Amino acid sequence: MLRSAGYDIVFREVPDETTLAVNIAACPFRCPGCHSPYLQEDAGEPLDEAAVEAMVKKYGGGITCFAFMGGDADPAEVGRLARFVKARWPTLKVAWYSGRETFDDAEVLAAIDYLKLGPYRRELGGLDSPATNQRFWRLLKDGTREDLTPRFWRNARVGGTRGVFRED
Ligand code: SF4
Repeated sequence: MLRSAGYDIVFREVPDETTLAVNIAACPFRCPGCHSPYLQEDAGEPLDEAAVEAMVKKYGGGITCFAFMGGDADPAEVGRLARFVKARWPTLKVAWYSGRETFDDAEVLAAIDYLKLGPYRRELGGLDSPATNQRFWRLLKDGTREDLTPRFWRNARVGGTRGVFRED
């Protein structure tokens, strides 16, 4: 089971969306310079259908997107909960921030509208750094993907800035 290490409404993590973003614990990666080491701990509240339902209901119709920030220890579970979100609220978009270099499990991606890939490399910066190794994709229904990463570079400083919620 995934565990939530906190959630909030964010505006910059997914372009043009008002996003309910959930930080997911037990990150399996150990990026040098990790901005949130507490996310490497297997702690937090269980993230299941009931927890997702309570989070979404708290914000009513004020959100347009639900984002899983992490969850790389169990991508299948991310996919399962993503399918729950899409079935329960068909108009909500779903985003997944993954620290993987690549990911191509079609069953998981079928319920994902936005996908961020790439580990955090301190010397390259997060998504808002033009030098970043990370990529943010809009996944289209025809199986293609659109690279939205440059959208994060507006007003960027060379070397990047700290993310507003989670920058990996
Ligand atoms: S993926 Fe994110 S949370 Fe995990 S170790 Fe890397 S920077 Fe830290």
